Amino acid sequence: MKVLVINAGSSSLKYQLINPETGEIFAIGLCDRIGIENSKLEYEVPSKDFELELKEDLPTHKVALEKVLAAILHTEHGVISSIDEIDAVGHRLVHGGEEFAHSTLITADVMESIKQNIELAPLHNPANIMGIETIMELMPGKPNVAVFDTAFHQTMPKEAYMYALPYEDYTELKVRKYGFHGTSHLFVSTTMNEIMGNPKESKIIVCHLGNGASISAVKNGKSVDTSMGLTPLQGLMMGTRCGDIDPAAVLFIKGKRGLTDSEMDARLNKKSGILGIFGKSSDCRDMENAIKDGDERAKLAEAMFIYKIKSYIGAYAAAMGGVDAICFTGGIGENSATMREGAVKGLEYMGVKLDTAVNSVRNKGNVKLSAEDSKVLIYKIPTNEELVIARDTNAIVNKK
Ligand code: ADP
Repeated sequence: MKVLVINAGSSSLKYQLINPETGEIFAIGLCDRIGIENSKLEYEVPSKDFELELKEDLPTHKVALEKVLAAILHTEHGVISSIDEIDAVGHRLVHGGEEFAHSTLITADVMESIKQNIELAPLHNPANIMGIETIMELMPGKPNVAVFDTAFHQTMPKEAYMYALPYEDYTELKVRKYGFHGTSHLFVSTTMNEIMGNPKESKIIVCHLGNGASISAVKNGKSVDTSMGLTPLQGLMMGTRCGDIDPAAVLFIKGKRGLTDSEMDARLNKKSGILGIFGKSSDCRDMENAIKDGDERAKLAEAMFIYKIKSYIGAYAAAMGGVDAICFTGGIGENSATMREGAVKGLEYMGVKLDTAVNSVRNKGNVKLSAEDSKVLIYKIPTNEELVIARDTNAIVNKK
């Protein structure tokens, strides 16, 4: 079984050809700067340590996907000899609204529903749809499966996902908390449950810390709360997103600075977070390096980032009536010992005790970071969203 996993963004397209049963990656890569100058195609065959970076003209997603298929089928560095070897295509979709609590085979009706959710994710869903339509054009008859970032969080209880706005904003406009990074929260919490021996009851907090960052409370395998909201802007402080703020501050800044809606949106989504406070970069590594040089704003950005995670850990432990395990994932969660240490420091009263020596060593794979006498497990678990997409695609296509 070989599943092609596609993650189409507005100007980029990530892809992997995976065996959903073993997780083996046959080929992996990225088309970057689609529709912009200096576009390029990256292609890698991990089993052969083969890497290729080609400056390619990629005016559209269709051209980009054609080049991807050509690379995968290439006589020398390709990994398959015919397109028939690809059994199905799994697509990452950012927003499934309330319609999609599970991954689904893409039919004409499903496409229609996905299109109706464009309004909820105007930046992401159109690109995702373009990816699906392009694959349907290039590989007619191939089963396509949609895997939604929001689906895992559809189990949240109403008191967790409702905003205290006039009720008709929910019924008429579908304004509520949806949450994102669902495939990652699902993968990490499932892995943690397996590590714990799949107990009947479990309370897990997953901290997905990357450029985008979110945290979730997973009780007995189900998401019961998560920090992102109607859009990915809510919750933790992120690379360039502000996370939780007083909504009145938005109106105040917009009015005082005379900004348009889209300028204000860009200020909150692209100019805030670590970038907004530190001022020089949105990247955690740059921030950590600047701290070593004594940069005060970098120090503040890190302290704010950590404080927010800790606040959510406390809130979600309260929401679940305790916590058995705290997991860190994403570029920052998997790599920054400082962020992990900061996030759990001071939580000893909750039975959370980090093994600081183990935490500071860089080890691959799933790593236990809690001290032997910690009541709560702390783990670093590398996420694998593509594998979730490939597994769901395989399960759905084979059930058909
Ligand atoms: P995305 O949300 O785009 O998938 P990633 O999960 O790749 O993001 O995370 C990117 C973040 O991870 C960046 O802020 C980057 O600085 C951070 N990161 C990557 N490696 C390290 C490291 N060794 N130490 C600290 N932060 C790191």
